Amino acid sequence: MTAVHTGSCLCGAVRYEVRGLLRDSIACHCSQCRKTSGHYWSATQAKTADLHLLEGRGLRWFRSSGIAQRGFCQHCGSSLFWRPDGADTTSIGSGTLDGPSGPCATSTLPTKATTSISHRLWRSGRRAGPASLPGGS
Ligand SMILES: [Zn+2]
Ligand SMILES: [Zn+2]
Repeated sequence: MTAVHTGSCLCGAVRYEVRGLLRDSIACHCSQCRKTSGHYWSATQAKTADLHLLEGRGLRWFRSSGIAQRGFCQHCGSSLFWRPDGADTTSIGSGTLDGPSGPCATSTLPTKATTSISHRLWRSGRRAGPASLPGGS
């Protein structure tokens, strides 16, 4: 049986459902994730085909870099999604899940990693601790 997870932004103008597996969460400390969330950003990930909008009137996309867009609620400002160009996955802010977030943060991407390095790792779905990051110091 396929697991069903639901989530939303703070005001409810964006609500979604994931019918499928969620990856463990990653806590990303790159400058873009810090700026977009006000802190580090913790995100799980799902196949984009498994992610269904139940309410999308608040959803807007911001091109945050040359490789990805970020989905947020235009009404309450919640940061919900990160979607790399050409990928079949979407990262989903762990805290936007309803109820207990379930997936635990099992790894972090460090502050000093450049955005391109850390987000390339996100895109590959690789789990990486600081020690295994190329050039991470
Ligand atoms: Zn909202
Ligand atoms: Zn990041």
